Amino acid sequence: MPTTLEEVYQVLSCLPDPVFILSEDGDYVDILGGTDSQSYHDGSVLVGQSLHEVLPKDKADWFISQIVFALDHNEVITVEYDLGASDVDGLDEASGPLGTLRFEGKISPLSFTRNGRRVVCWLTRNISTRYHLEKRLRKQSETDSLTHIANRRFFFDTLKSTLASKSTSSLILFDIDYFKNVNDTHGHLAGDLVLKQIAKRVIAIIRPEDTFARVGGEEFAVLLPTLDREAVMAIAERLREAIDSDPFLFEGQQIHVTASFGVTMTVDSDQDTSVFSRVDTALYQAKLQGRNQVVYMEHC
Ligand code: GH3
Ligand code: MG
Ligand code: MG
Repeated sequence: MPTTLEEVYQVLSCLPDPVFILSEDGDYVDILGGTDSQSYHDGSVLVGQSLHEVLPKDKADWFISQIVFALDHNEVITVEYDLGASDVDGLDEASGPLGTLRFEGKISPLSFTRNGRRVVCWLTRNISTRYHLEKRLRKQSETDSLTHIANRRFFFDTLKSTLASKSTSSLILFDIDYFKNVNDTHGHLAGDLVLKQIAKRVIAIIRPEDTFARVGGEEFAVLLPTLDREAVMAIAERLREAIDSDPFLFEGQQIHVTASFGVTMTVDSDQDTSVFSRVDTALYQAKLQGRNQVVYMEHC
């Protein structure tokens, strides 16, 4: 025997994820399902109200624009958005999870109308757990575990997208001098501490828009947008001085280290490999000339 309409309605009402029937001007025509109170608030109070009555204007406008898009294109669209119970007037905050949640919405045009208005079915899924996990994993994959700054992969991704945008940037590459001696004399843990402390000293000098990464064992790079040669040379000199000026302290031992610096600027024709090899040549030159110094390499 086929399922009766009443049974179909009961199935819809029991769906763990909520399904909103929304009109193109933002009326909550009906809400079905949403029985999983671990993931959702009780939205039944919303029926008969409109998006503009219960949500901040920018959010309501955005929801309506998505509804209209799905209807105009007559296709199912998938959207992602942040929403917390405190954003929605009249919702009982205690009836579901706290804080801002991440939702995936699947918006599907319906063939009937309400009061002459087109309507959609907006299927909602709380994806907060997966979203935060993905964000954490992405962050981990871009971060150096010792110094907690960016890693080589993130650095080269950023360098490539910067070059693609054709905006001029400066690049500093530096390598700790005779670092092997630090490990040999004071031990590997002392070496690790020096790397972490160097990262801290550099962060205190560079700007938030600069990308600072550990690109090798004791080799670091800084990509600095919109600086001219004079300005980037001054920053590289400040970084060199910040490392050289004060020894690092490890279990009562003072460890003095220096670093050698290469500096260059990007040009429109650069690839990530060409600009990196230029700055590497400048760094190599600084090593050859006696270390603890900054060398600039012009594009030729
Ligand atoms: P140079 O002035 O020519 O750069 O000499 P250097 O001794 O710094 O260069 P070399 O390449 O011979 O040695 C680099 C050392 O860096 C060897 C390696 O053990 C050490 N190193 C690389 N990564 C780490 C790390 O994560 N922790 C510690 N403690 N040492 C590291
Ligand atoms: Mg070195
Ligand atoms: Mg090295």
